[in-house]
Amino acid sequence: MSASNALSPGDPSSFSRPDQCAITDISLDVKIDFGRKVVHGTATYKCKKVLAGADSLILDTDQLTIFKVYCKQTSQDLQFSVGEPVGKFGSKLQITLLTSFPDDGEFEICVDYENSPAATGLQWMPANLTAGKRQPYLYSQLQSIFARTVLPCQDTPSVKHTYSARVTVDKALTVLMSAVPSPTEPAPNDQVTYIFQQPVPIPCYLIAIAVGDLTSKKIGSRTTVWAESEMIDKAAWEFEKAEQMLTTAEELCGPYIWGVYNILVLPPTFPYGGIENPCLTFAAPTLIVGDRSLTTVIAHEITHSWTGNLVTNFNWEHFWLNEGHTMFVERKIIGRLHGEDDRQFSMNSGWTDLAHTIKEFGPTNPLTKLVLDLTDGTHPEDSFFSRAV
Ligand SMILES: [Zn+2]
Repeated sequence: MSASNALSPGDPSSFSRPDQCAITDISLDVKIDFGRKVVHGTATYKCKKVLAGADSLILDTDQLTIFKVYCKQTSQDLQFSVGEPVGKFGSKLQITLLTSFPDDGEFEICVDYENSPAATGLQWMPANLTAGKRQPYLYSQLQSIFARTVLPCQDTPSVKHTYSARVTVDKALTVLMSAVPSPTEPAPNDQVTYIFQQPVPIPCYLIAIAVGDLTSKKIGSRTTVWAESEMIDKAAWEFEKAEQMLTTAEELCGPYIWGVYNILVLPPTFPYGGIENPCLTFAAPTLIVGDRSLTTVIAHEITHSWTGNLVTNFNWEHFWLNEGHTMFVERKIIGRLHGEDDRQFSMNSGWTDLAHTIKEFGPTNPLTKLVLDLTDGTHPEDSFFSRAV
């Protein structure tokens, strides 16, 4: 392995070249097919040339099937090629731009695609693995570089864009995304279309979706808890202080600009503590213990609304910027809600864990560096000590 294994100059883990042509918005129109375990449809990309004369848009893909690429305005087909897979990083999708696309304005490109049933970023669960056992369940986890397994994208956190989505599912299912919902629309064949807008530019790893037999309970002016009906009352009680945590975070960091704050309690097989999807924290059911003792995870995920989701690491070598500042603010929130002693205890506990981990790995182990070196082809997921996201 050598430094030449970096996939691009700005991000060793992404083929994309946002220094040449960058996405400013993604509009998704997709259907969820639980039978085939695929999300299929059309992604429309608003793009702008960053480099005058740029002749291609380069996207990351991983086991996606690309059916067609075309200009939204004229429907003219665009030439494209999908490269050979490179390690665990997927394949480069290179789209040749039309010469009519302007150097100094936006243009729109449509891609018809579907993902592989084996997409790392999507978890498909049969009904019998859910609490209610009535409907199947789907949730995404695109951090760090799994967005490319779900849709073609510039899968580097240095690119931020708005997104919107129309997602069609069977009527019995509810769809949530990391965005603000609009009223649903009826669709043919006993289906329904959910509509979302995310007006704040985000990196594509923060696009998130969950589909299941879900119900909700509002617990604050901006805060709603979602879960299967079997868990909703317990979940709402456990996370009752979420709105207060949000207000405390605002006192420390400034206004919460994402509009709504939803907490979704995932099914029992969810392998993380929490995931900080904008507008929609994913929370493990193991946080519901009946005494609110594990809800600091919610303070952590709320904090990511500023550190990570608004101010973001440029690439995954600098992941400490997302997590380090989030831990700092999380403990500030704990201090304001539970007292300075609790904050000091949490800080000391974190420091002890860090010292122990460095000793275990060895102080000269490159994985103990604050800023990682991923240019040797190391996958970001192989470089993090733990998945405390
Ligand atoms: Zn985190």
